[in-house]
Amino acid sequence: MFRSACPSCGAEVLFRSTISAVAICEYCQSTVLRSADEVKDFGKIGKVLEDYSPIQIGTSGVFAGRAFTVLGRIQLRYEAGLWNEWYVSFDDGQQGWLADTSGQFMFTLPLSETTAATSSPAFDAFTPEMRYEHGGRVYVVTDVRTAQCIGGQGELPFALGQGYEAKVVDCRSADRFLTVDFSDVTLFKPNPTLYIGEAVELKNLQLQLLRDAETILASAGRLKGTGAVLDCPSCGSPLKYQAGVATQIVCKACASVVDCSGDKALVLEKHTAAAQYHATLDVGDSAAIDGVNWKIIGLIEMEETNDADSSWTEYLLYNAQQGFFWLVESNDGWYQVEVLNRLPDSWTNESAVLDGVRYRRPFELYSAKVTYAAGAFNWRVSVGDQVSCAEYEHNGERLCKEKSQTEVIWSKSKRIPNQLVEQWFGKGKIITPISNSGVDSASNRHLSMLFIVGLLVLNIPLAFAGSNLIGSLFWTGLAVWLIRLPLKSGEDEE
Ligand SMILES: [Zn+2]
Ligand SMILES: [Zn+2]
Repeated sequence: MFRSACPSCGAEVLFRSTISAVAICEYCQSTVLRSADEVKDFGKIGKVLEDYSPIQIGTSGVFAGRAFTVLGRIQLRYEAGLWNEWYVSFDDGQQGWLADTSGQFMFTLPLSETTAATSSPAFDAFTPEMRYEHGGRVYVVTDVRTAQCIGGQGELPFALGQGYEAKVVDCRSADRFLTVDFSDVTLFKPNPTLYIGEAVELKNLQLQLLRDAETILASAGRLKGTGAVLDCPSCGSPLKYQAGVATQIVCKACASVVDCSGDKALVLEKHTAAAQYHATLDVGDSAAIDGVNWKIIGLIEMEETNDADSSWTEYLLYNAQQGFFWLVESNDGWYQVEVLNRLPDSWTNESAVLDGVRYRRPFELYSAKVTYAAGAFNWRVSVGDQVSCAEYEHNGERLCKEKSQTEVIWSKSKRIPNQLVEQWFGKGKIITPISNSGVDSASNRHLSMLFIVGLLVLNIPLAFAGSNLIGSLFWTGLAVWLIRLPLKSGEDEE
């Protein structure tokens, strides 16, 4: 442990690890650089937005048989959302990053310079589903993103200023991850840095010193004092949201998209009237699932771009301890969807193989778009957002591949009985079986969770440049569950 006085404000700054190059003063946000015996002020960095994450500085755990402690954190923002990169130090002196995005977690470790030095296409040449070879293994690109560092906390292995930009490509091969990080590419270092990662579940990391639910809910992001209700800056209607969880709120009354991740609520997109909403459940509804209480914090209605009769609703549920969960309501019933934390073994346009099971495509490829959104999300969702989808089926279970310009996401859906959903929400009368018609209309077939999932899972690898740092990847994280409910469009409205 090394203690020093902050060169800017005089407060005590702690360096718990000898491998940390900088520590951020918790009083004035100065980045204090530790070099040799002297301490320098490297400039200020933004304060992190306290969010839903149960992790905090000081949290310890075990990954791959090695004990680690969380020393610091960086928060990044890309066009659609925000995520945390927790800097960890292993007891053997190695460092790593635990990415934390929308309740999904990914550990990444830097590859040594020699292993990482390979020639690579330029960042701009990468697109989702492109093949990328490394170490004799073929990876598939799942995410291509540019992100900015908006805040920092604790110790870090390198100094990075406000506005630091990360340019990363995430690739996967079955359950393995590879991040190709272009953030530190220069004339003198033309090749990107590589990081190897793996999706993890917090419950398997033997974590200690996590924040509890009360603490998470009590730390309301930057808009402190506003409680969980904020007046829409566009129309004045009250916006209810889960403090610390939501960074974007879509006003139910006027459909304006409001950003609440900064010091004040900002209107990102102004609208004057919300579209018609047909879903059975609503933002604020609670469900008791296996003894755990979940609350719907946001909902999105989607429709096929070439068939307005084919529509469905996706609900985002949240529990402080468990994270996020999706329910999907479509014309033929309710579905629970798991966002896969690995790629299928293989796939073509006609079929896909996962865990040795071959799924076949039951209908044509299609595109879907968001027609309505309301509630709180931790990424930006807008009416008109679009993804292209391919679904594959086997014995009633479906695999769905959703692709946007920057990422590709795979999910697995399972139909669940209407009675179960009625039980969860205590709304039996509202949720009626719809698809007794037996007609496999265009509207009842889609299980994809659409881009939503995509965004939720954000495959964002991030990488950081700098000394020996890392990037991290993300998309795989733990599985987020989506459930889709089928509903009969037009008939089951509230
Ligand atoms: Zn200071
Ligand atoms: Zn409004």
